[in-house]
Amino acid sequence: MSLDLKSLIRTIPDYPKKGILFRDITTLIEHPEGFRQSVEAIAAAHRGIGITHVAGIEARGFIFGAGVAIAMGVGFIPIRKKGKLPGQTLGQNYALEYGVDTIEIHADVLDAGDRVLLVDDLIATGGTALAAVSLIRRTGATIEHAGFVIDLVDLPGGQRLRDQGIALTSLVEFE
Ligand code: IMP
Repeated sequence: MSLDLKSLIRTIPDYPKKGILFRDITTLIEHPEGFRQSVEAIAAAHRGIGITHVAGIEARGFIFGAGVAIAMGVGFIPIRKKGKLPGQTLGQNYALEYGVDTIEIHADVLDAGDRVLLVDDLIATGGTALAAVSLIRRTGATIEHAGFVIDLVDLPGGQRLRDQGIALTSLVEFE
């Protein structure tokens, strides 16, 4: 039976700062069937289209992305915060509300001909996901699909990804 995944996501007000409603997926992944169904739903939406790798964004994208990669029978690629990957990397800056951050991917991990599915827990402004898309494209691989557990639909991330030619799957929407 398919669960109401939205009801398994807890909302914490004023985290990480006053006025923010933080959508907390720890309650979803603590629920065995909720976790299984969320991973399987993202995997099911992307079978049979030639995906060769799942890339997940640190840190919550690792939790769902690793599960999706196993469920699809493909490898997993970590996209990490600056300075964490041991090999040669490509880096991409992206804007935070205050300041900038950098994410990195191993430079030699993908080739032309690879087709990547990007996975993260949540899309809001799209800044993080767009930086990840740019990194993946710089490796020479193709990315046309991204899967998120949560889409904050009042924010422009989904549209910004679609404008980049990325088809978006999300399981739960919050205003
Ligand atoms: P964006 O770059 O503005 O789209 O923000 C998405 C990134 O911020 C993702 O990597 C999320 O993990 C994180 N994030 C932003 N808001 C939330 C939230 O309410 N819950 C969980 N993660 C969030």
